[in-house]
Amino acid sequence: MAILALHGGAGGDGEWRGMTDLDPDRLACLKSILAELGPRLESGELDALEAVTLAVEAMEDEPLYNAGRGSVLAENGQVYMDASMMRGTDQAAGSVVNVETTRHPIRAANLLLKSGWPVMLNSKFADEYAEENGLEQVPQSWLQTKLRRAQWSKWKALNARPGSTDEDDGAVLDHDLEDTEPAGMGTVGAVALDAHGNLAAATSTGGMTGKPLGRIGDTPIIGAGTWCDQNVAVSCTGVGEAFIRTCAAHEVAVQFRQTEITLQQATESVLNQVQPLGGRGGIIAIGADGQVALPFQTMLMYRGLWQNGAISTGIGNETYS
Ligand code: ASP
Repeated sequence: MAILALHGGAGGDGEWRGMTDLDPDRLACLKSILAELGPRLESGELDALEAVTLAVEAMEDEPLYNAGRGSVLAENGQVYMDASMMRGTDQAAGSVVNVETTRHPIRAANLLLKSGWPVMLNSKFADEYAEENGLEQVPQSWLQTKLRRAQWSKWKALNARPGSTDEDDGAVLDHDLEDTEPAGMGTVGAVALDAHGNLAAATSTGGMTGKPLGRIGDTPIIGAGTWCDQNVAVSCTGVGEAFIRTCAAHEVAVQFRQTEITLQQATESVLNQVQPLGGRGGIIAIGADGQVALPFQTMLMYRGLWQNGAISTGIGNETYS
Protein backbone atom coordinates (compact mmCIF):
# COMPACT_ATOMS: atom_id res chain seq x y z
CA MET A 1 0.00 0.00 0.00
CA ALA A 2 2.27 2.80 -1.21
CA ILE A 3 1.01 6.40 -1.21
CA LEU A 4 2.57 9.63 -2.50
CA ALA A 5 1.01 13.05 -1.86
CA LEU A 6 2.29 16.42 -3.11
CA HIS A 7 1.48 20.06 -2.55
CA GLY A 8 2.48 23.05 -4.63
CA GLY A 9 1.60 25.70 -2.08
CA ALA A 10 -1.49 27.31 -0.60
CA GLY A 11 -2.70 30.88 -0.86
CA GLY A 12 -5.45 33.36 -1.57
CA ASP A 13 -8.61 34.42 0.21
CA GLY A 14 -12.26 34.04 -0.70
CA GLU A 15 -13.91 31.85 -3.29
CA TRP A 16 -11.77 30.03 -5.81
CA ARG A 17 -12.18 31.74 -9.17
CA GLY A 18 -11.34 28.72 -11.33
CA MET A 19 -8.25 27.74 -13.24
CA THR A 20 -5.89 30.31 -14.72
CA ASP A 21 -3.98 29.90 -17.98
CA LEU A 22 -0.97 28.55 -16.12
CA ASP A 23 -2.80 26.13 -13.84
CA PRO A 24 -2.97 23.26 -16.38
CA ASP A 25 0.83 23.32 -16.50
CA ARG A 26 1.04 23.25 -12.72
CA LEU A 27 -1.31 20.26 -12.59
CA ALA A 28 0.57 18.55 -15.44
CA CYS A 29 3.77 18.84 -13.41
CA LEU A 30 2.14 17.19 -10.39
CA LYS A 31 0.60 14.46 -12.53
CA SER A 32 3.82 13.58 -14.31
CA ILE A 33 5.69 13.34 -10.99
CA LEU A 34 3.00 11.08 -9.53
CA ALA A 35 2.82 8.95 -12.69
CA GLU A 36 6.56 8.43 -12.69
CA LEU A 37 7.23 7.95 -8.99
CA GLY A 38 4.01 6.26 -7.80
CA PRO A 39 4.60 2.90 -9.51
CA ARG A 40 8.28 2.90 -8.49
CA LEU A 41 7.25 3.51 -4.88
CA GLU A 42 4.64 0.75 -5.08
CA SER A 43 7.09 -1.77 -6.59
CA GLY A 44 9.63 -1.12 -3.85
CA GLU A 45 12.20 0.33 -6.27
CA LEU A 46 12.04 3.65 -4.39
CA ASP A 47 11.86 4.06 -0.65
CA ALA A 48 9.79 6.88 0.86
CA LEU A 49 12.83 9.11 1.43
CA GLU A 50 14.04 8.96 -2.16
CA ALA A 51 10.51 9.33 -3.52
CA VAL A 52 9.87 12.59 -1.65
CA THR A 53 13.34 13.86 -2.58
CA LEU A 54 12.82 13.18 -6.29
CA ALA A 55 9.31 14.63 -6.18
CA VAL A 56 10.47 17.86 -4.56
CA GLU A 57 13.49 18.12 -6.89
CA ALA A 58 11.11 17.96 -9.86
CA MET A 59 8.95 20.73 -8.35
CA GLU A 60 12.07 22.79 -7.59
CA ASP A 61 12.83 22.60 -11.33
CA GLU A 62 9.31 23.72 -12.32
CA PRO A 63 9.43 27.54 -12.55
CA LEU A 64 5.71 27.82 -11.79
CA TYR A 65 6.27 26.69 -8.21
CA ASN A 66 7.90 28.72 -5.45
CA ALA A 67 10.95 26.56 -4.79
CA GLY A 68 14.28 26.22 -6.55
CA ARG A 69 13.91 27.84 -9.98
CA GLY A 70 10.91 30.16 -9.75
CA SER A 71 11.41 30.98 -6.08
CA VAL A 72 9.92 34.28 -4.96
CA LEU A 73 12.24 37.25 -4.38
CA ALA A 74 13.16 38.68 -0.98
CA GLU A 75 13.05 42.41 -0.20
CA ASN A 76 16.39 42.98 -1.95
CA GLY A 77 15.25 41.18 -5.11
CA GLN A 78 17.36 38.06 -4.51
CA VAL A 79 16.32 34.41 -4.08
CA TYR A 80 16.95 32.73 -0.71
CA MET A 81 15.67 29.16 -0.42
CA ASP A 82 14.81 26.91 2.53
CA ALA A 83 14.25 23.14 2.54
CA SER A 84 13.94 20.30 5.02
CA MET A 85 13.12 16.64 5.17
CA MET A 86 12.63 13.85 7.63
CA ARG A 87 12.59 10.04 7.61
CA GLY A 88 10.06 8.21 9.75
CA THR A 89 11.97 5.07 10.69
CA ASP A 90 14.59 6.88 12.81
CA GLN A 91 13.44 10.54 12.76
CA ALA A 92 16.59 11.43 10.86
CA ALA A 93 16.36 14.99 9.57
CA GLY A 94 18.17 17.42 7.26
CA SER A 95 17.59 21.11 6.64
CA VAL A 96 19.14 24.03 4.75
CA VAL A 97 18.31 27.68 5.30
CA ASN A 98 18.62 30.68 2.99
CA VAL A 99 20.67 28.98 0.27
CA GLU A 100 21.35 31.09 -2.81
CA THR A 101 23.04 28.93 -5.43
CA THR A 102 22.09 25.30 -4.88
CA ARG A 103 19.79 24.12 -7.67
CA HIS A 104 18.10 21.51 -5.50
CA PRO A 105 18.00 22.60 -1.84
CA ILE A 106 16.04 19.44 -0.96
CA ARG A 107 18.93 17.25 -2.13
CA ALA A 108 21.26 19.19 0.18
CA ALA A 109 18.81 18.48 3.03
CA ASN A 110 18.79 14.81 1.96
CA LEU A 111 22.61 14.67 2.13
CA LEU A 112 22.60 16.20 5.59
CA LEU A 113 19.94 13.74 6.73
CA LYS A 114 21.98 10.80 5.48
CA SER A 115 25.21 12.13 6.95
CA GLY A 116 23.59 12.06 10.40
CA TRP A 117 25.19 15.28 11.64
CA PRO A 118 24.53 18.21 11.73
CA VAL A 119 20.80 18.49 11.06
CA MET A 120 20.82 22.11 9.81
CA LEU A 121 23.19 24.31 7.82
CA ASN A 122 22.59 27.91 6.88
CA SER A 123 23.25 30.32 4.00
CA LYS A 124 26.59 30.20 2.19
CA PHE A 125 27.82 27.39 4.42
CA ALA A 126 24.95 25.25 3.20
CA ASP A 127 25.68 26.17 -0.43
CA GLU A 128 29.36 25.31 0.13
CA TYR A 129 28.40 21.98 1.72
CA ALA A 130 26.16 21.21 -1.26
CA GLU A 131 28.88 22.11 -3.75
CA GLU A 132 31.53 20.10 -1.90
CA ASN A 133 29.18 17.13 -2.05
CA GLY A 134 28.72 17.42 -5.80
CA LEU A 135 25.39 19.23 -5.99
CA GLU A 136 24.86 21.56 -8.93
CA GLN A 137 25.28 25.28 -8.27
CA VAL A 138 23.42 27.81 -10.41
CA PRO A 139 23.49 31.61 -10.78
CA GLN A 140 20.74 33.78 -9.33
CA SER A 141 19.83 34.79 -12.90
CA TRP A 142 18.80 31.14 -13.51
CA LEU A 143 16.73 30.92 -10.34
CA GLN A 144 14.89 34.21 -10.89
CA THR A 145 12.03 34.15 -13.39
CA LYS A 146 10.25 36.97 -15.20
CA LEU A 147 7.01 36.19 -13.35
CA ARG A 148 8.72 36.44 -9.96
CA ARG A 149 10.45 39.68 -10.87
CA ALA A 150 7.05 41.08 -11.90
CA GLN A 151 5.49 39.94 -8.62
CA TRP A 152 8.35 41.49 -6.68
CA SER A 153 7.95 44.83 -8.54
CA LYS A 154 4.25 44.79 -7.74
CA TRP A 155 4.96 44.05 -4.09
CA LYS A 156 7.47 46.91 -4.01
CA ALA A 157 5.01 49.31 -5.62
CA LEU A 158 2.23 48.34 -3.20
CA ASN A 159 4.59 48.61 -0.27
CA ALA A 160 2.84 45.50 1.05
CA ARG A 161 4.12 43.96 4.20
CA PRO A 162 5.42 40.42 3.88
CA GLY A 163 5.24 37.79 6.56
CA SER A 164 2.87 39.61 8.84
CA THR A 165 1.38 37.55 11.61
CA ASP A 166 -1.66 39.80 11.69
CA GLU A 167 -4.38 38.53 9.40
CA ASP A 168 -5.55 42.05 8.69
CA ASP A 169 -2.41 43.80 7.65
CA GLY A 170 -1.58 42.08 4.47
CA ALA A 171 0.70 39.11 4.88
CA VAL A 172 1.83 38.34 1.37
CA LEU A 173 1.88 34.76 0.19
CA ASP A 174 3.11 34.63 -3.37
CA HIS A 175 -0.37 33.67 -4.52
CA ASP A 176 -1.86 36.88 -3.26
CA LEU A 177 0.06 39.16 -5.59
CA GLU A 178 -1.60 38.22 -8.85
CA ASP A 179 -4.80 39.65 -10.23
CA THR A 180 -5.51 37.90 -13.47
CA GLU A 181 -3.04 35.06 -12.96
CA PRO A 182 -3.22 34.04 -9.34
CA ALA A 183 0.25 32.66 -9.05
CA GLY A 184 -0.70 30.34 -6.18
CA MET A 185 2.45 28.42 -6.71
CA GLY A 186 3.75 28.40 -3.21
CA THR A 187 6.09 26.26 -1.34
CA VAL A 188 6.27 22.64 -2.46
CA GLY A 189 6.11 19.49 -0.37
CA ALA A 190 5.82 15.73 -0.58
CA VAL A 191 4.90 12.96 1.85
CA ALA A 192 5.19 9.25 1.10
CA LEU A 193 4.43 5.81 2.49
CA ASP A 194 6.54 3.16 0.78
CA ALA A 195 6.00 -0.54 0.08
CA HIS A 196 7.76 -1.44 3.35
CA GLY A 197 5.42 0.76 5.39
CA ASN A 198 8.02 3.49 5.97
CA LEU A 199 7.26 7.21 5.81
CA ALA A 200 9.12 10.37 4.74
CA ALA A 201 8.29 14.07 4.40
CA ALA A 202 9.97 16.92 2.50
CA THR A 203 9.27 20.64 2.02
CA SER A 204 11.07 23.30 -0.05
CA THR A 205 10.42 27.02 -0.65
CA GLY A 206 11.63 30.41 -1.71
CA GLY A 207 9.64 31.78 1.22
CA MET A 208 7.47 34.86 0.85
CA THR A 209 7.76 37.73 -1.61
CA GLY A 210 9.56 40.70 -0.06
CA LYS A 211 10.70 38.75 3.00
CA PRO A 212 13.31 40.60 5.06
CA LEU A 213 16.91 39.48 4.70
CA GLY A 214 17.72 36.64 7.05
CA ARG A 215 14.08 35.71 7.58
CA ILE A 216 13.56 32.00 8.25
CA GLY A 217 10.10 30.57 7.69
CA ASP A 218 8.63 27.30 8.87
CA THR A 219 9.78 25.24 5.91
CA PRO A 220 13.32 24.42 7.13
CA ILE A 221 12.28 24.09 10.77
CA ILE A 222 11.79 20.49 11.79
CA GLY A 223 8.46 20.21 13.58
CA ALA A 224 7.07 23.44 12.09
CA GLY A 225 6.95 22.99 8.29
CA THR A 226 8.03 19.34 8.14
CA TRP A 227 7.66 16.35 10.44
CA CYS A 228 7.90 12.59 10.09
CA ASP A 229 7.95 9.75 12.61
CA GLN A 230 6.84 6.13 12.43
CA ASN A 231 3.16 7.12 12.55
CA VAL A 232 2.80 10.11 10.26
CA ALA A 233 4.50 12.23 7.58
CA VAL A 234 3.56 15.93 7.37
CA SER A 235 4.40 18.87 5.09
CA CYS A 236 2.92 22.36 5.60
CA THR A 237 2.43 25.49 3.51
CA GLY A 238 1.23 28.95 4.48
CA VAL A 239 2.32 31.97 6.49
CA GLY A 240 5.36 30.39 8.11
CA GLU A 241 5.51 32.43 11.30
CA ALA A 242 2.21 31.00 12.55
CA PHE A 243 3.29 27.46 11.66
CA ILE A 244 6.46 28.01 13.69
CA ARG A 245 4.54 29.36 16.69
CA THR A 246 2.28 26.30 16.76
CA CYS A 247 4.98 23.70 15.89
CA ALA A 248 2.33 22.80 13.35
CA ALA A 249 3.77 19.72 11.65
CA HIS A 250 4.75 18.13 14.96
CA GLU A 251 1.41 19.08 16.49
CA VAL A 252 -0.29 16.96 13.80
CA ALA A 253 1.78 13.99 15.02
CA VAL A 254 0.91 14.69 18.65
CA GLN A 255 -2.81 14.84 17.94
CA PHE A 256 -2.76 11.83 15.62
CA ARG A 257 -1.25 9.71 18.42
CA GLN A 258 -4.63 9.86 20.14
CA THR A 259 -6.36 6.76 18.83
CA GLU A 260 -9.80 8.29 18.51
CA ILE A 261 -8.56 11.12 16.24
CA THR A 262 -8.45 10.62 12.46
CA LEU A 263 -5.69 12.21 10.39
CA GLN A 264 -8.24 14.51 8.79
CA GLN A 265 -9.34 15.69 12.24
CA ALA A 266 -5.75 16.13 13.46
CA THR A 267 -4.69 18.21 10.44
CA GLU A 268 -7.84 20.35 10.49
CA SER A 269 -7.49 20.94 14.21
CA VAL A 270 -3.89 22.12 13.72
CA LEU A 271 -4.96 24.48 10.92
CA ASN A 272 -7.54 25.83 13.37
CA GLN A 273 -4.72 26.57 15.83
CA VAL A 274 -2.58 28.21 13.14
CA GLN A 275 -5.34 30.37 11.68
CA PRO A 276 -5.88 32.76 14.66
CA LEU A 277 -2.15 33.55 14.58
CA GLY A 278 -2.50 34.78 11.00
CA GLY A 279 -1.38 31.54 9.42
CA ARG A 280 -3.51 30.87 6.42
CA GLY A 281 -2.36 27.68 4.74
CA GLY A 282 -2.63 23.97 4.21
CA ILE A 283 -1.17 20.63 5.25
CA ILE A 284 -0.57 17.30 3.51
CA ALA A 285 -0.17 14.21 5.67
CA ILE A 286 -0.06 10.43 5.38
CA GLY A 287 -0.43 8.01 8.30
CA ALA A 288 1.40 4.69 8.52
CA ASP A 289 -2.05 3.08 8.51
CA GLY A 290 -2.76 4.55 5.06
CA GLN A 291 -4.88 7.55 6.10
CA VAL A 292 -4.36 10.62 3.93
CA ALA A 293 -5.38 14.22 4.65
CA LEU A 294 -4.91 17.27 2.41
CA PRO A 295 -6.83 20.11 4.15
CA PHE A 296 -6.35 23.83 3.47
CA GLN A 297 -7.99 27.03 4.70
CA THR A 298 -6.89 29.28 1.87
CA MET A 299 -8.61 29.83 -1.47
CA LEU A 300 -6.54 27.05 -2.94
CA MET A 301 -3.81 24.52 -2.43
CA TYR A 302 -2.20 22.83 -5.42
CA ARG A 303 -2.17 19.16 -4.56
CA GLY A 304 -1.82 15.71 -6.01
CA LEU A 305 -2.20 12.16 -4.75
CA TRP A 306 -1.08 8.75 -6.01
CA GLN A 307 -2.91 5.95 -4.20
CA ASN A 308 -3.98 2.46 -5.29
CA GLY A 309 -2.53 3.11 -8.73
CA ALA A 310 -4.77 6.13 -9.32
CA ILE A 311 -3.82 9.80 -9.59
CA SER A 312 -5.97 12.68 -8.41
CA THR A 313 -5.16 16.39 -8.32
CA GLY A 314 -6.83 19.53 -7.05
CA ILE A 315 -6.46 23.29 -6.79
CA GLY A 316 -9.49 24.93 -5.18
CA ASN A 317 -12.40 22.94 -3.86
CA GLU A 318 -12.48 20.67 -6.92
CA THR A 319 -10.62 17.38 -7.29
CA TYR A 320 -9.67 15.97 -10.70
CA SER A 321 -8.95 12.35 -11.52
N1 ASP B 1 5.59 28.53 4.53
C1 ASP B 1 6.37 29.30 3.59
C2 ASP B 1 7.17 30.31 4.37
O1 ASP B 1 6.64 30.89 5.30
C3 ASP B 1 5.56 30.01 2.56
C4 ASP B 1 4.52 29.18 1.81
O2 ASP B 1 4.19 28.08 2.22
O3 ASP B 1 4.01 29.65 0.78
O4 ASP B 1 8.30 30.56 4.02
